[in-house]
Amino acid sequence: MMLLNRLNLFFVGMCLATTLATAQITEHSQTNIPPSYLPLEEIYSQVFKYKAKYPELVHIEEIGISTTRKLPIYAVKISDNAADSEDEPKILFMGIHHAREPIGANICMALVNELCSKYNKSERINNWVNSLEVWFVPVVNPEGYSFIFEKNLSFPWWRKNLRDNDGDGKFDPLIDGVDLNRNYDFNWAEGGEGISGSWFFRGTKPFSENETRAIQKLAIRENFVIGISYHSYGESILFPWGNYNRAPDIDLIVNIASRMALQIERESGFGSYSILPLNARAGQSSVWMYGALGILDYIVEVGTEYFPAEKKISSIVNQNIQGAYYLFDRIFSSGINGHAFDLYSKKPVVADILVRGYTASYVRPRRSDSRFGTFQKLLLPGKYAIEIVAEGYYPQLFEDIEVREGESVYLRVALVRKDGYTN
Ligand SMILES: [Zn+2]
Repeated sequence: MMLLNRLNLFFVGMCLATTLATAQITEHSQTNIPPSYLPLEEIYSQVFKYKAKYPELVHIEEIGISTTRKLPIYAVKISDNAADSEDEPKILFMGIHHAREPIGANICMALVNELCSKYNKSERINNWVNSLEVWFVPVVNPEGYSFIFEKNLSFPWWRKNLRDNDGDGKFDPLIDGVDLNRNYDFNWAEGGEGISGSWFFRGTKPFSENETRAIQKLAIRENFVIGISYHSYGESILFPWGNYNRAPDIDLIVNIASRMALQIERESGFGSYSILPLNARAGQSSVWMYGALGILDYIVEVGTEYFPAEKKISSIVNQNIQGAYYLFDRIFSSGINGHAFDLYSKKPVVADILVRGYTASYVRPRRSDSRFGTFQKLLLPGKYAIEIVAEGYYPQLFEDIEVREGESVYLRVALVRKDGYTN
């Protein structure tokens, strides 16, 4: 009861604050926030418009609600037969972990538009939409982003979510909020800051926030091959990682980052994005994605400022679309893919996909998924020994697998149970 009363009071307080803020900022709202950065409600309404216009290609899922204001967090999947979960490689794009870095949502929505509006018009787009499941979470931090609009970019220029750190039912910018990109569970305790008022407050425990738990659940379920999280700014692609035990796939990770970066021209027109190592001791999404799930995950720091100016937005977005296109193609290029299943029952088996010489105790290997037994691991061209290991089954070794440039080698992995049962 106490809690309910407090929550009610809190919501009344929030609404009042919102109304006042809206009344005060109306005349400035057009001048301070460039019009191409849409308010949260408009981004969400766009998402549903795409769903209405392209029902076969668009699937929307509410993957969670924000920590304090309980705003929905939507994931959008673009694929043929989008409503079904198909046995296709999956890729993830995210925007707005940080409230004041909105351009990631523009890039996500531009990619949604490209994939939908050019379907049946471009062979390239058709191939991607038919053979991939492309997932977007345009706004990971809806409440922080809403707050930016209420404040019309005035102090505090918000970065975190709106977590009520001191539990007093009021929002205080000097105390409240968790940095969502310090809240993931990979070396969490070593990263960010422990003081609640800090811009980099990591939260009270890993995955303490609804927003990061929503992403965690989605990533585990979908077993993405590649992921991108857009932030601003820096004109660089950040890869896992530079200051920790060697990432076993580091050569591949750097290779993909460099090739993607080459596709994205800088605002100046001189040269392309740089690549830089991530801090593996900071609880960021990309290091968790790689360390916990073997996802090749990158942060793209877009542009040269938090809110690139209106006249720069479309060219920045178009450049980053080229980077994403590189990844769509790369998924089908050099590597291995296949299915792990029980020899007798034919049922899918969850198995670790171990590439000899490319494993480490601190990084979980790629796994086959439980729905289809499907797995995919990108590799640089070369010769590999691959071991498939599943609990209760005899391991299976594929020696001398030759991965050629541009080709993915298919492995059919029929596993035999150790206990001799055949069904
Ligand atoms: Zn950021």
